[in-house]
Amino acid sequence: MPPRETIQRTAIREAFCKADRPLSPREVHDIASKRVPRLGIATIYRVLRELIEEEYLTAVELPGEPPRYERAGKKHHHHFRCRRCGGVFEVHGCPGDLRSLTPRGFRLEGHELLLVGLCGKCNG
Ligand SMILES: [Zn+2]
Ligand SMILES: [Zn+2]
Repeated sequence: MPPRETIQRTAIREAFCKADRPLSPREVHDIASKRVPRLGIATIYRVLRELIEEEYLTAVELPGEPPRYERAGKKHHHHFRCRRCGGVFEVHGCPGDLRSLTPRGFRLEGHELLLVGLCGKCNG
């Protein structure tokens, strides 16, 4: 039986729609608990697991930190991590074909690219 659409689930889904960037469980909690007071972090983790199983969310694995989550099914894209606030944002551009960087005799199958620096708020 699919999970009931509780106010907790609704608030968590809305957090992802509103933020439109990868969120850590803590960030989800900060956003969603504004709508649903007394929302516990354990509930956040449980609902995140459900939404991943339902393929509503997918994990974003960045080096050196626990996974964040974003809406599943997005087109190929990259991320920008702010070194001051720790926020991760979506980047829509892509340098494209990186075969020119690939060592001789290697076969390139994909790439991961993380931009780092200061976000607009922290740079302001
Ligand atoms: Zn920032
Ligand atoms: Zn790319």
